Amino acid sequence: MSKKPTNEEFCSFCGRPASQAGVLLSGLHGLICHDCAEQALKIFKEQVKESPRKGYDPEAPIPTPTEIKTFLDQYVIGQDAAKKVLAVAVYNHYKRLRYNALSGDKNDVEIEKSNIVMVGETGTGKTLLARTIARLLKVPFCIADATTLTEAGYVGDDVENVLVRLLQAADYDVEACERGIVFIDEIDKIARKSENTSITRDVSGEGVQQALLKLLEGADVNVPPEGGRKHPEQKLIKINTRNILFICGGAFDGIERAIAARLNSNVIGFKGDEKRQELDRDNMLQYVQPMDLKKFGLIPELVGRFPVLTYLEPLDREALRRILTEPKNALVKQYVELFKMDGVDLDFEPAALDMVVDRAVEYKLGARGLRGIMEGIMTDIMFDLPQMKADASYTLTAEEVKKRLR
Ligand code: ADP
Repeated sequence: MSKKPTNEEFCSFCGRPASQAGVLLSGLHGLICHDCAEQALKIFKEQVKESPRKGYDPEAPIPTPTEIKTFLDQYVIGQDAAKKVLAVAVYNHYKRLRYNALSGDKNDVEIEKSNIVMVGETGTGKTLLARTIARLLKVPFCIADATTLTEAGYVGDDVENVLVRLLQAADYDVEACERGIVFIDEIDKIARKSENTSITRDVSGEGVQQALLKLLEGADVNVPPEGGRKHPEQKLIKINTRNILFICGGAFDGIERAIAARLNSNVIGFKGDEKRQELDRDNMLQYVQPMDLKKFGLIPELVGRFPVLTYLEPLDREALRRILTEPKNALVKQYVELFKMDGVDLDFEPAALDMVVDRAVEYKLGARGLRGIMEGIMTDIMFDLPQMKADASYTLTAEEVKKRLR
């Protein structure tokens, strides 16, 4: 490809002769110098980054709920109820954007936002679902942690900073930001204390809820573009939250008791015992209702702003086993790739993986525990990996796992 520069050759882009521009790469019909190639690469990168968001096209096809769910299935094991609810909510989010874009302000029917709350134990896939949705979507997306939020004036993040993150995710394109999706994690941690004594947080929880309410309602919110506190001299950017979709997640520790109490009192009086037997005691979250969130300490106005409520199942042994091997970026697949780069074929004895799962169940960390346990086992092996012969193979045996877990 590269040609030795001669005096006659010059860069077809900047016109400099090879004597000034240095080595020239030749294509079919021209030459390019190092500086122009670098500049071109920069432009390409920017275009790729911007193109999915720039220029919203209301006519563009919308992924159907089935397509969205199929995509989620590649990365998230189980959680069918949550996947379906999310798929429909996201589908409607797109339709709503289209409806508003096409009809402007003249629409007769106001299609309301379907903000979502996901209730589920830690490590069951709430964040993973939100992240995976973001992969699929061509709208800006950000994750915020409710525990860092405070009322304006307190130490911590002002609620508006959630929008700063979204604005940054949109590369400061306000219009794109206003169509984005925000995932707020640990929403249960801003519950009002009086209703729930297990939360060791001060009363500011309610203040934060009030502040969040403003974002959810669809207001014009002024945000400091760099984040942090608002300074009088800082120029603020106005963001309208009318079309921003909010998805919240929380473990709501102990909410099962409230659900059980409600269900039990409901069935008293008619066929009590039969009804009670039908309840799936191991997974009470599936019966969660907005009133349970209120009981937990979310203010009614906030609960009212989340019309979609769904739950995640606790992950059983079988689900954990599948999580190890099945998702597109399953842990086992990741290690196989890592080993492949050193020319080593990695294989796992099924019994070895079973033991990893047993340990994860023992630790009660959900799927989150799998990674740590695997790392613990694989670290020494990976330390020796570069010294292994290329074209070698390695099988992780149950025996080995047993030894290392000890
Ligand atoms: P949560 O937000 O519910 O606390 P996460 O979504 O952060 O939990 O899950 C932690 C990790 O566990 C994820 O990164 C993922 O690797 C794994 N994981 C959790 N649930 C699932 C699932 N249902 N399918 C596949 N992997 C999962």
